[in-house]
Amino acid sequence: MKKITRDQIELLIELQEQEVAVAKIQSEIDGLPVKIEQILSGLKEFEEKILIKKESLSELKKLYRSYDAEIQTNQERVKKREEQLRLVTTNKEYQAILKEIDEIKKTSSRIEDETIECLDKIDSAENDVEEKEAEYLTEAAAMNQQKSVFEADADSGRRSLDKLLAQRDKILTKIEPELIKQYELVNSFARGIAIVQVKDCICMGCNMNIPPQMYNELHRENELKTCPHCHRMLYVIQ
Ligand SMILES: [Zn+2]
Repeated sequence: MKKITRDQIELLIELQEQEVAVAKIQSEIDGLPVKIEQILSGLKEFEEKILIKKESLSELKKLYRSYDAEIQTNQERVKKREEQLRLVTTNKEYQAILKEIDEIKKTSSRIEDETIECLDKIDSAENDVEEKEAEYLTEAAAMNQQKSVFEADADSGRRSLDKLLAQRDKILTKIEPELIKQYELVNSFARGIAIVQVKDCICMGCNMNIPPQMYNELHRENELKTCPHCHRMLYVIQ
């Protein structure tokens, strides 16, 4: 077993603390673009909903215009028939035109009812669009503010990260290269926790018991030992 000084163990623990902090900040920074993207896509979804409402409003207005045009055409047709009435010579012809006028008027009256219904729908659709647009403005303001907070978080995260990395590099210069190599090897399979405390014979990395003899040796000697189960480097608090 390699001899190791208490000082080197403490530096390894410190190195690990820095690296855990670095990983935490890094994952927070990495998660921010996703959060910002969610905000933007939420707003886009909202915009699309409003757009659909506006499209159906414009369809309703188109329908209203077509009803209006139809009513006007019918009015002209009635006027024309009324002029014809003055020129007819037979009662039969007269009755036929009257019947025609009556039918045109009936159609117009039906269209007028539909026009009123359509106007009601336009009214409520307009209110709905207005309401949703106001809601959108409030939401967009809140979301943009949240986005700025996330962006500021990312900036301060990057600053903390630089500081931590500098501290980590400083610690690295104080640790024996061979020990760093071993630490990194263990780290690569131990999910970021390479050195762990042993408490009451239990490895805090895997929660398994280590042999009592090893536990005693950890207290007595300055030897680097690894957990027989998870292979992490071990230390005890003296
Ligand atoms: Zn273990």
